[in-house]
Amino acid sequence: MIAITGGSRGIGAAIAERVAVDGHDVLIGYRSNEDAASKVAERIRSLGCEAATARVDITDPKSIEEFLDAGQELGPLTGLVAAAGEVWAVGALVDLDPADLKKDLEINLLGAVLTARAAISRLTGTRGSIVLIGSAAATLGSPGTYVHYAAAKAGTAALTVGLSKELAAQGVRVNCVEPGTIWTDFHQDPQRPAKVAASIPWGRAGEPVEVAGAVAWLLSEEAGYTTGATLRVSGGL
Ligand code: NDP
Repeated sequence: MIAITGGSRGIGAAIAERVAVDGHDVLIGYRSNEDAASKVAERIRSLGCEAATARVDITDPKSIEEFLDAGQELGPLTGLVAAAGEVWAVGALVDLDPADLKKDLEINLLGAVLTARAAISRLTGTRGSIVLIGSAAATLGSPGTYVHYAAAKAGTAALTVGLSKELAAQGVRVNCVEPGTIWTDFHQDPQRPAKVAASIPWGRAGEPVEVAGAVAWLLSEEAGYTTGATLRVSGGL
């Protein structure tokens, strides 16, 4: 069973469907949008796999444990994808509310750390792996938009490097996928993917399914010697 936080919408939902095509049962995590998660589960069942949905707050360790426990009905954990993320504070750092900054850092950095941590003991000895969803912002820095979010995603990339080394002896691979701008509900300005297209070498924003393929490969046996890697899926950014 592959567990996906943020599986109810956007990139996480595309990953859920993509890994089901590879034959995996999927535990879909949502924070509040239960209906969206249920629809993803229905699509997975129509592909011939099992699916369950469960609420998870990735800033709360107990909630993450309960989420993973909820997937036990689908069998042992074989993969974890930490795709949940969001941004509240957008603009120049000097103008942003410290309370919103704290919330964003908790969701995008602490959330990734806690989610990965909860999976470790469950993945040990399974040949399973962890895929963290970072962002191209980690190296671009996102000036004027959300430098604090970029910093959190750079932390996610560093987490990938360190944790991959820490868990190698246990046979648990840890990798990161860094999307560029992708068409999802993530953006406060829904048209942002179109507006930034000219700055992307490939000339357009990406689709969630284009990120999902990279994640599915990292979870697969074909990537059995790949750990500590960050795979950029950003149209050349
Ligand atoms: P969406 O807004 O489409 O989906 C966000 C998902 O995260 C939803 O499933 C939401 O649940 C869940 N979520 C949000 N906050 C929490 C929380 N505190 N606890 C648990 N779940 C939570 O975003 P994307 O699909 O675009 O983003 C997925 C990942 O990709 C994020 O990590 C994001 O930072 C990253 N990313 C996105 C890019 C983009 O351009 N879209 C670019 C680079 C990286 P619910 O449905 O219940 O609200």
